[in-house]
Amino acid sequence: MGTTVHLKFSAPDAVEADTAANAVFQRIEDLEETFSDYREDSELSLLSREGNKAPRTVSVEMFDLLQRSQQISEISRGAFDISIGPVVLLWRQARRTHQTPDPEALLRAKALVDYHNIELDPQNRTVYLKREGMKLDVGAIAKGYAADRALALLKSRGIESALIDAGGDLRIGAPPPGKSGWTVSIDSPDTAKGRTGCTLVLHDVGIATSGNIYQFAEVGGRHFSHIVNPASGEGLLGSASTTIIAADGITADGLATALSVLPPTEGLRAIQAVPGTQAFLVRQSPQGWQYFSSPGFPRTCDELRKRGN
Ligand code: AMP
Ligand code: MG
Repeated sequence: MGTTVHLKFSAPDAVEADTAANAVFQRIEDLEETFSDYREDSELSLLSREGNKAPRTVSVEMFDLLQRSQQISEISRGAFDISIGPVVLLWRQARRTHQTPDPEALLRAKALVDYHNIELDPQNRTVYLKREGMKLDVGAIAKGYAADRALALLKSRGIESALIDAGGDLRIGAPPPGKSGWTVSIDSPDTAKGRTGCTLVLHDVGIATSGNIYQFAEVGGRHFSHIVNPASGEGLLGSASTTIIAADGITADGLATALSVLPPTEGLRAIQAVPGTQAFLVRQSPQGWQYFSSPGFPRTCDELRKRGN
C-alpha cells in the first residue's frame, strides 16, 4: 500500500508485545496482498482485470471494504469513488511527465468512473464491474481499513491501549496507562514547515488528514493534488487539508478524501449523517487561509484558528 505502519501499544510483558506486533504486521502483510495497487497478482488487481467478465467471488476483507466504500460514495454523492482508477492513472503519468493528461484520454477515463457500476452481491459475496475497462483504486481508504483490522487484532489479544499509524491514517484505541488519551499532531498547509497544525488528545477513534502537502503533480507551476474530482476528472488545485475524526479508521480515511473534493459547507452537511464524525478543513483562498469545522471538533486547534464556525 506504499506506506509505513507504526504501532504503539501496552502489553503485559515484552514477549507478548513482540508476539502481538508480529501478528499485526503479518495481518497487514496479508492485507497488502489483497489491496495492493502495484502488485499485479493482488486480489484488487485481479478484480479490476477480471471483474467485468462475470461476477467474481472475493475475500471477506475485500467485500467488507467495498461495501464501506460504497457507503462513503453515497454519503458524499460520488465525490468519493473508488472506480476513479483510470483517471488516477492518467494523473500519475502527469506527475512523471509534468504535462496535464490528454483531454480525450481523460474524457474516456472519466466515462468509466461511476461507483453505481460496482455491483455487490452480499448473498454470494461476489463483485461485478459493469463496464469494461473499469479499474478500482482503494488508495483513499485501504490504510484506514488496515489500521482498523490491526486494532481489532490487538483487541482480540486483550490489548486495548493502542495506536496504529498507517502512513498518517490513525486508528486509536484506549488511552495509554494513566493518560487521558494519545497525543496526535495534525499537519496543515497554513503553518510553517516543520510546525504542526495542531495537537489533539484522543482515544477510541480513527483520524485521518487528506491534502496535497506531500503528493501532487506539478504542471506549469501549478500543483494538482493526487485527489481527483470524479465529476471533472481534474486533480484538485489549491493548498488544502481536510482532517476527519470518526468512529473508525476507514470512515476517517474515506471521508477525509471525500470532503477534500466537496465544497466545505456541503461536506460538513454530509457528515451530519455519520454519527461520531467531526471535520476540520483548511483552505487557501485569494483572501488568505479559510477554516471550517463541525461543531464537535476539538476546539484546541488554535481555537480553530481564532474563528467560530
Ligand atoms: P487519501 O490520501 O486518503 O486522500 O487518498 C488519495 C488517493 O485516493 C489517491 O492517491 C488516489 O489513489 C485515490 N483517489 C483520488 N481521488 C479519489 C476520489 N475522488 N475518490 C476515491 N479515491 C480517490
Ligand atoms: Mg483517505
